[in-house]
Amino acid sequence: SEAFLSVRDLRVRFSTEDGIVKAVDGLSFDLERGKTLGIVGESGSGKSVTNLTILGLHNAKTTEITGSIKLDGQELTDASQKQLERLRGNKMAMIFQDALTALSPYYTIGRQIAEPFRKHTGASKKEARDRAIEMLGKVGIPDPKARVDDYPHQFSGGMRQRAMIAMSLVCNPELLIADEPTTALDVTVQAQILDLLKDLQQEFGSAIILITHDLGVVANTADDLLVMYAGRAVERGSVREVLKAPAHPYTWGLLGSMPSLSSDVDEPLRPIPGTPPSLLNPPIGCPFHPRCEYTGLVGGDRCASERPLLAEGRAAACHLAEEQRQQVFIETIQPR
Ligand code: SF4
Ligand code: MG
Repeated sequence: SEAFLSVRDLRVRFSTEDGIVKAVDGLSFDLERGKTLGIVGESGSGKSVTNLTILGLHNAKTTEITGSIKLDGQELTDASQKQLERLRGNKMAMIFQDALTALSPYYTIGRQIAEPFRKHTGASKKEARDRAIEMLGKVGIPDPKARVDDYPHQFSGGMRQRAMIAMSLVCNPELLIADEPTTALDVTVQAQILDLLKDLQQEFGSAIILITHDLGVVANTADDLLVMYAGRAVERGSVREVLKAPAHPYTWGLLGSMPSLSSDVDEPLRPIPGTPPSLLNPPIGCPFHPRCEYTGLVGGDRCASERPLLAEGRAAACHLAEEQRQQVFIETIQPR
């Protein structure tokens, strides 16, 4: 049977003055209710574009989309703006990186949580206000009755992030997309917010897509992991599998450059040399090959000429991984 969210061979292209940008280039994944998928990659990897496309928030005039996005059996790629608007905030919702951009400074916190609830449920003003107070309590705002009429500037950064989560969850969305939800917060508040998301997921049973550049964030929060590079998925598996035995050189690079996951604190972080390729003119072959240290281990110059594909299930899109499937080999060449 089909997954709750099923993305198949998704391609997203923008026309710009300089040419066509292939922002997402053949992406497939599944997500079940109650599960969290972490999507990890550097900026420009296509992770944010993928999720804006799922939500229908792309610019329809300049964007070409092919492939399929099915949410609970409904195809979203050919849904009308009206249908998408109805789904947004109701069946699917988004948590942004910066609460200040999502919350209006001119309206009270309570009103901003109550409005989408009224819009999607037809509740009365009183019911919606009660619901806003309830949601503020759920996200851990102390004395929500006293704070419901506060304006965003009266909340701390962490409280604003919680208020935005309350706003996103007020209609019990079945799919929640969180794009770098904790990047702007300090480490302690970050952990609290991630715990909160997990608790709320238990209560509401939502499917969550957690977009981040930080593997440390997904390590304790996500069930499955998709590593994206240059608009493609390069590695997929359960978080446990991927973190225990990462199989793609790009994932090794990400792990080596993460302060939060470093096994030995004395070991210096090693940023991945080079920069992600331009998506106007992506390299032929493996998109990572201009930065990869392991191309010499693959015969016949395949890295520069042949695009490695991502198999189903636990997989890495890498000629090396394909040639050397044995775990023993992967473990001896992977850094650390
Ligand atoms: Fe590196 Fe080649 Fe694997 Fe790409 S296919 S990640 S260039 S070894
Ligand atoms: Mg982004």
